Amino acid sequence: MNTTYFIDFDGTITTLDTTWAMMSAFVREADYPAVRAINASWEKKELSTRERANRTFQYFNADMEDMLELLGTIEIDTGFPLFLEHCARAGDRVCVLSDGFDLSIRTVFEKYGIEIPFYCNTMVYDNGFSIVCPHENTLCGHCGVCKTSLVHRMKDPLHRCIYIGDGYSDVCPAGHADVVFAKEPLYSLCRDRGVEAVPFRSFGELIESLYQGPLERRE
Ligand SMILES: [Mg+2]
Ligand SMILES: [Zn+2]
Repeated sequence: MNTTYFIDFDGTITTLDTTWAMMSAFVREADYPAVRAINASWEKKELSTRERANRTFQYFNADMEDMLELLGTIEIDTGFPLFLEHCARAGDRVCVLSDGFDLSIRTVFEKYGIEIPFYCNTMVYDNGFSIVCPHENTLCGHCGVCKTSLVHRMKDPLHRCIYIGDGYSDVCPAGHADVVFAKEPLYSLCRDRGVEAVPFRSFGELIESLYQGPLERRE
């Protein structure tokens, strides 16, 4: 049976969450408490992703050049390109679902020569940053990219559906997958909600558990 993977971007494929990297690079220390409070409200679902981003962006001291320079420093899990090779060889599908930004994903994927489909929010720059959410779901009202509705829309009934993620925006879609691989804090969040998940730390580990049968080990 083939697999369709739905994979989160920030903190799952990348070693650092790009939104957090932006906050620590572009927000003045005096504004940290305000920005942390915005984030805490988002985690409690009192703010939507759209509100969280637009409020947070008001505290950014950066232009497009600063943004691109920062994004150029973001690194990925070193096992991820090899994981993609295994998927391609096995005929498995990979799709990235991110409540982050197109600019981050495009910059990082270009740097590493990765070409896979991704669904995310759009970052707009016009004398300041703002967010556009083309994958919002009015029924959900919280996510910028409603991962759960995308999983439902793109899930192939003939494929096993595997979700791989690390954070708050992954909890809901994880409940709709056949198998979940989770980094922290997603692993604990799943456990608290009774969603079965397998903890993992790197794509190297995933390659081993998903693809390295006795045949491939002989190489
Ligand atoms: Mg994440
Ligand atoms: Zn949603």
